Amino acid sequence: MATFKVKTTKHTSFVNITNQVREIVRNSRVNSGLCIVYVPHTTACVLINEGADPDVIRDIAYSLEKLIPWKDNYAHSEGNSAAHIRSAIIGNSRIIPIENGDLLLGTWESIFLVDFDGPRERKVIVKIIEGK
Ligand code: ZN
Repeated sequence: MATFKVKTTKHTSFVNITNQVREIVRNSRVNSGLCIVYVPHTTACVLINEGADPDVIRDIAYSLEKLIPWKDNYAHSEGNSAAHIRSAIIGNSRIIPIENGDLLLGTWESIFLVDFDGPRERKVIVKIIEGK
């Protein structure tokens, strides 16, 4: 298992972590298997989507703001229910196949750590399972 930390800089941050995850996969020397990317947080999550055009991430963030507004009739006393709900919908892990010692991501795909209640320091856990 490998871990690394990400310092987010804004209240809502989409941080492209593809290179860090890819480096861990290559260093593992696993040729074929599965890569699990997990964040142990309740207001941050892991998303795989387009990394080439930043407007896509902008539009995802914009739509989540509209669907789950920051202020609403929430009960959670900490005041960050929207961050919990947005993270719950996206999910705090992803599984990516490994083939030929590399992540089997699509051409336009990137892995993002998404922080909905930043800025904070977030932890990313990467677990690699070898197998055909
Ligand atoms: Zn909370």
